[in-house]
Amino acid sequence: MIPYGRQNLSEDDIRSVVDVLRSDWLTQGPTVARFEAAIAKYVGSQYAVAVSSGTAALHLGCRALGLKRGGMLWTSPNTFVASANCAFYCNGDVSFVDIGKDTFNISPTALEKKLIEAKQRGQLPDILVPVHFAGQPCDMKEIFALAKEYDCKIVEDASHAIGAEYHDSKIGSCQYSELTTFSFHPVKLMTTGEGGAITTNDKGIYDKLMMLRSHGIIRDPDRMNGTSEGDWYYQQLDLGYNYRITDIQAALGISQLSRLDQFLKKRQTLVRRYHNKLSHLPVKLPIVRDARTSAWHLYVIRVDEKKTGKTRGEVFAALRKSGVGVNVHYIPVHTHPYYAKKGFQKGDYPVSEKYYEEAISIPIFYDMTEDEQDRVIRALEQAL
Ligand SMILES: *Cc1c(COP(=O)(O)O)cnc(C)c1O
Repeated sequence: MIPYGRQNLSEDDIRSVVDVLRSDWLTQGPTVARFEAAIAKYVGSQYAVAVSSGTAALHLGCRALGLKRGGMLWTSPNTFVASANCAFYCNGDVSFVDIGKDTFNISPTALEKKLIEAKQRGQLPDILVPVHFAGQPCDMKEIFALAKEYDCKIVEDASHAIGAEYHDSKIGSCQYSELTTFSFHPVKLMTTGEGGAITTNDKGIYDKLMMLRSHGIIRDPDRMNGTSEGDWYYQQLDLGYNYRITDIQAALGISQLSRLDQFLKKRQTLVRRYHNKLSHLPVKLPIVRDARTSAWHLYVIRVDEKKTGKTRGEVFAALRKSGVGVNVHYIPVHTHPYYAKKGFQKGDYPVSEKYYEEAISIPIFYDMTEDEQDRVIRALEQAL
């Protein structure tokens, strides 16, 4: 089976992990700080905090921005459940904004409409979570302008988008947000096994993230209530977590990050071939947008039943049967049973639901050979 995504580990990646295993520090050592400095430098942010997962990054981001009971987070339904769940972890609430028909990202038009209505009801969101779906940057200038007008904070979920570019900056530079989160799960663009990161330019947010990552504990005497009782002394100031990443993982992260541009370049080559070789088929291909460079975490085609006479399900099954490990991203979050219990219904976000009925993610990963890609293309021709 050709998978839809797969990590690539080099001998150098392995060696850097083994070096840490032979060192004094398996966790809370210098390699985590080195990884954080490398992330901040790569994306162009002031600060980076590495954590145990992309989900932990979203949770800490919401906590650092002060989301609590009575608070509200909005994201788009076309995402992994974690982009929304993070609000519930903080006892906050969730609502959604539908996606654009061709961008698959949060629609600024739908966002503005919903903000106007929410203002009239006096229920404006505290946090917006634009998800750079498939690696394609959201319309951040428009979203940022609306966030300023309606006094919301922005957490970019860039789990799909490390290395993506929007106008003159990299995603993660936080030019249009308070903070950005990343995931380093093996299906993502680069990996640490499990892992994630948050970037920000705000020292206050950074300090909060660092504290919450490790139980809400601080060791800096200047930040203590009262005076330090000695070198052993620390204080817990808030309720935090153990969301630390290990030095073992961070070593892999540093090595993978140094190869990221190479990973992205290969994805672009694969995308160009898909674009050329699939253009004659009756499927809709992902669009390439101005003033941005996608990280191409996913390559999503859409099956138009009216044109092909076949449902997405039929095409999906035929592809799997011929050894192509296709997948579907995403089941609209609001249609999951957990969200139905919260009162969401099918029909609430029709663009996301229509998109979901047509979408298939076809394989794209660094190791993919031209031969494998041609097999995918032939399988798709037959399936249609
Ligand atoms: C993968 C992913 C996450 C969660 O990341 P983990 O590292 O698996 O916790 C969150 N949001 C999106 C959009 C993702 O794709």
